[in-house]
Amino acid sequence: MTYKRIYLKRGKEESLQRFHPWVFSGAIHRIEDGIEEGDLVSVFSASGDHIGNGHYQIGSISVRILDFSDRAIDESFFVERLTQALNMRRALNLMRPDNNAFRLVHGEGDFLPGLVIDIYGDTAVVQAHSPGMHFARTIIANALTSLDGIAVKNVYYKSETTLPYKANLDPQNDYIIGSFTTNVAMENGLKFHVDWLKGQKTGFFVDQRENRSLLEHYSQGRTVLNMFCYTGGFSFYAMRGGAKLVHSVDSSAKAIQLTTDNVELNFPGDSRHKAFAEDAFKYLDEMKSDYDLIILDPPAFAKHKSALKNALIGYRKLNAKAFEKIKPGGILFTFSCSQAVSKEQFRLAVFSAAAMSRRKIRILHQLTQPSDHPINIYHPEGEYLKGLVLYVE
Ligand code: SAH
Repeated sequence: MTYKRIYLKRGKEESLQRFHPWVFSGAIHRIEDGIEEGDLVSVFSASGDHIGNGHYQIGSISVRILDFSDRAIDESFFVERLTQALNMRRALNLMRPDNNAFRLVHGEGDFLPGLVIDIYGDTAVVQAHSPGMHFARTIIANALTSLDGIAVKNVYYKSETTLPYKANLDPQNDYIIGSFTTNVAMENGLKFHVDWLKGQKTGFFVDQRENRSLLEHYSQGRTVLNMFCYTGGFSFYAMRGGAKLVHSVDSSAKAIQLTTDNVELNFPGDSRHKAFAEDAFKYLDEMKSDYDLIILDPPAFAKHKSALKNALIGYRKLNAKAFEKIKPGGILFTFSCSQAVSKEQFRLAVFSAAAMSRRKIRILHQLTQPSDHPINIYHPEGEYLKGLVLYVE
């Protein structure tokens, strides 16, 4: 199937021939009349070879290629891609009686650029990051509920903050199929409320699941500070791991309420946990040196390359505070989820912070995003989560 055509400048097809899914605006020679934002388009090289079909968008990334052939991008296309995504999650053993929360679609990582889908029990939360995916939302929802091997009953569409604001699409967060049933989901046997209606992203950060499990193994008998706790994920893993005490801190009062509710859901009446609505830097400045397991999982300090320098300073300052205060023999889990910050840059920021503290520090683990947030090998930009586990003498 050929859609309206976009022709590239000579030689600009090279990265696409290596299956990188983005066409940058500077690579385009000519756009056929009548193409509008969000339309399906066919991309051709200067010499007239068909390269692939994808969604057109106004901006520096002009086309996100969905398929490097001339097949139609219709409901059967989405059923096929979603089935492949689901088969992979099954192979990862993420669909179990004690685990019903996972990412089903991770954009380019699942060959569906512009689309994110998280599953919480029988509800799917769908996020469009491109106008094309916004227009496809109903066929995506239908495809989701038709999949074999998973019973998706409710599809909640949540793209008010993820679509380009200039596209003027006015997306309304709402159910496309079904309605609210329960919002309690399960991760590795721990329960949590997911607030997809008002919470950040799709309501829960499924990307820290494996790192939380690792933390659980280090928690026995420790005094834990979970900084930037959001819904408290790391806190209840630490409690299950036998922590002596867990303090959760977030600047958002809403997050502190969610954390308190989630701890109560798993460990009712457990006095080991306390939560504080406080700014991270203020808390770290004023706290005593009582913690021997600290988690730093801040929001992305650099959403774009332009913010890189300040972001690196931010990571350095934050980690320096933790190195200054953590007890001897302490363990620090420190993360960056900024896509614009590379693994090497993050490590350098943490290294600088370590040097400032003059303490003996060793790297125990180098962490990344979990397997349900796969990286398309042709699209290295898909790597975003970085973490280090450090032992501080
Ligand atoms: N660790 C969490 C995810 C963290 S998201 C998890 O496992 O789910 C980042 C969190 O940092 C958000 O909840 C946000 O409210 C909080 N935050 C942002 N700026 C902050 C600041 N200056 N001090 C404390 N918390 C902050």
